[in-house]
Amino acid sequence: MTEYIVKCDAFDHRQPKFPVGGYAPGGYVFTCRLCNEKNLIGAKRSYQCFPCAIETLVYNLSKTKQELASITIEHNELKNAIDVLKKYEK
Ligand SMILES: [Zn+2]
Repeated sequence: MTEYIVKCDAFDHRQPKFPVGGYAPGGYVFTCRLCNEKNLIGAKRSYQCFPCAIETLVYNLSKTKQELASITIEHNELKNAIDVLKKYEK
């Protein structure tokens, strides 16, 4: 019986779906708007290097989670206020 061992680096097993943030692979030279690294190679409309694109996405996700938590609190407060008003309607 033959035993196969498959090794696959978790980083390289597949490509992300581009564009990721402000980066996509390609053949144009650009400068990253965040870290100002020059002579980077990417798609025509790339404006971030890949690490900056990832950092921006992680930061934006964190901010979105904070906003969602804040909106959820406000939603629950309004819902409670409506429930109180409904009691007086009866
Ligand atoms: Zn950068």
